[in-house]
Amino acid sequence: AIDTAGLKTMFDEIAVAIEADKDRLCQLDGVIGDADHGIAMALGFGAVRDVLAALDLSAIEPTALLNTAAKSFLNAVGASSGPLYATAFMRGAAAVKGKAALADADVVAMLQAMAQGIRDRGKAELGEKTMVDAWQPAAEAAATAHAAGRTLAESLDAAFAAAERGAEATKDMIAAKGRSSRLGERSLGHMDPGAASAVTVIGAMRKGLA
Ligand code: ADP
Ligand code: MG
Ligand code: MG
Repeated sequence: AIDTAGLKTMFDEIAVAIEADKDRLCQLDGVIGDADHGIAMALGFGAVRDVLAALDLSAIEPTALLNTAAKSFLNAVGASSGPLYATAFMRGAAAVKGKAALADADVVAMLQAMAQGIRDRGKAELGEKTMVDAWQPAAEAAATAHAAGRTLAESLDAAFAAAERGAEATKDMIAAKGRSSRLGERSLGHMDPGAASAVTVIGAMRKGLA
């Protein structure tokens, strides 16, 4: 089961992976956005890492840790990804309320709640060339794998593979939400930066949790 120390490890892995991916994410955002996505994500997850490092993990439950992460991310990030990930972690927190540690099913429920939170906050549907195109299939793949009796590691592998396919598919989509929607058809042929960073986040979650 995953306790608060396990969740902190997950956030540490995300911070490392996003920092390493920062330049690529800014480049992707430079093509169809305003080139700040890597900086925004690195600021956000760096802030989460720093705040969690100062917490007494034995004194709090997973829900409180996830809500703290949400607040830190929101405060650190001025870009659109700020409220989207903050909502994701708040919804993840609500999904595991009252648990001292997360069983496989709880981790899967947390992922589903995160994806739903991003959808609700941004009002984006599948196919609108956003991070939803990576997050939603990833959460569904994890749930399907878990329901079929797969281990957490296998379920998170499935989520990561689905996120990768989803991000790749955004190249063939016309942006309908967010800054890049102003480009219309000129957004075709380019991967959505938020979908690209979702792959990195989900890959780091897999590494930290399984
Ligand atoms: P900004 O556009 O404010 O600079 P970022 O560069 O941090 O914000 O993030 C851009 C990413 O946010 C996009 O690539 C897209 O994936 C995601 N995004 C933008 N608007 C929405 C939305 N309404 N719903 C879901 N995701 C969105
Ligand atoms: Mg941007
Ligand atoms: Mg911006």
